[in-house]
Amino acid sequence: MSRVFNFSAGPATLPEAVLQQAAEEMLDWHGSGMSVMEMSHRGKEFTDIITTAESDLRELMAIPDHYKVLFLQGGASLQFSMVPLNLAGPDESADYINTGSWSKKAIAEAKRFCNVAVAGSSAADNFTWIPGQEQLQLNADAAYCHITTNNTIFGTEYHELPDTGVVPLVADMSSNILSKPVDVSRFGLIYAGAQKNIGPSGLTVVIIREDLIGRARESVPVMLEYKTHADAGSCYNTPPTYGIYMAGLVFKYLKGQGGLKSIQQANRKKAAKLYAAIDENDFYSSPVRRQDRSTMNVPFTLADPDLDKTFLEHAESKGLLNLKGHRSVGGMRASIYNAMPEEGIDALIEFMKEFSDRHG
Ligand SMILES: *Cc1c(COP(=O)(O)O)cnc(C)c1O
Repeated sequence: MSRVFNFSAGPATLPEAVLQQAAEEMLDWHGSGMSVMEMSHRGKEFTDIITTAESDLRELMAIPDHYKVLFLQGGASLQFSMVPLNLAGPDESADYINTGSWSKKAIAEAKRFCNVAVAGSSAADNFTWIPGQEQLQLNADAAYCHITTNNTIFGTEYHELPDTGVVPLVADMSSNILSKPVDVSRFGLIYAGAQKNIGPSGLTVVIIREDLIGRARESVPVMLEYKTHADAGSCYNTPPTYGIYMAGLVFKYLKGQGGLKSIQQANRKKAAKLYAAIDENDFYSSPVRRQDRSTMNVPFTLADPDLDKTFLEHAESKGLLNLKGHRSVGGMRASIYNAMPEEGIDALIEFMKEFSDRHG
């Protein structure tokens, strides 16, 4: 068996120890004689799995008691609809800060259900920076204000949250959840598709302040109401059981690594090394404003874009996979989520140096 360094933006690399544990438990989970995939979601084994996953996530993120944790399906993309359907009336207005492709999709979807005001945007500069507080036109009467805390495609990240006063802050945290400690009490609602930093695709985690539950308009389908899932402990219908199990293993693993402060330190170290390798070498450049750089997704371009294809081919032959940048940015993108080991960064940096020595 050989494993590559997988720089995919998502679904993304998972901790090897977690994959190994899942493999060991595949046929017989804890003496149950069953795989987790075969268990009733109402049985005592799975109840133990989901309860433990929730309490470990609560501990990791220090989630206050007046927030519910929901394990849903539909990806972050379904949250683009559920958020306005549950938090805004049809005549109400919501603020959105536009920091990239995922923000744009969230905005387009919200416009189907309520009034939307774009309270800030870096679209004019191809999303290479994050609007600061003084650049925002916030509406004090907005139903909520939506941000994307890490822009997976453009490689920008909020390092300071906007102050929205009493207006609930709603965050798409898909690509940087669990990468660092966050003050959950600053948010009304946090959501994340699992496939970047949590586990396999098919699971979506929602963390919602209790007073925001039960406000959905009447016409909302029962499956799209937060209250349905909050009241049923995420088991109104069959939840994505295997994804929840895998997420639970990842939560335990992160606790074992010392929690989110330690994870943040490791992530900062990995990102700093990679950005230094880009900044110190004229052959490479980063399109992103320094103070807004993401610790999770690192786009970079080559001095000669005609070499992109060769770069990717050579990288792949060294076991460095999925470095192709998104078409809206071009060049390369290294996604270096929690589970990317520092050796992966070192191998990439060594390859980048070799490549620029040969072709630069
Ligand atoms: C990947 C991603 C999404 C889309 O997630 P799905 O689970 O595929 O719907 C949305 N927002 C951000 C920030 C992402 O990185």
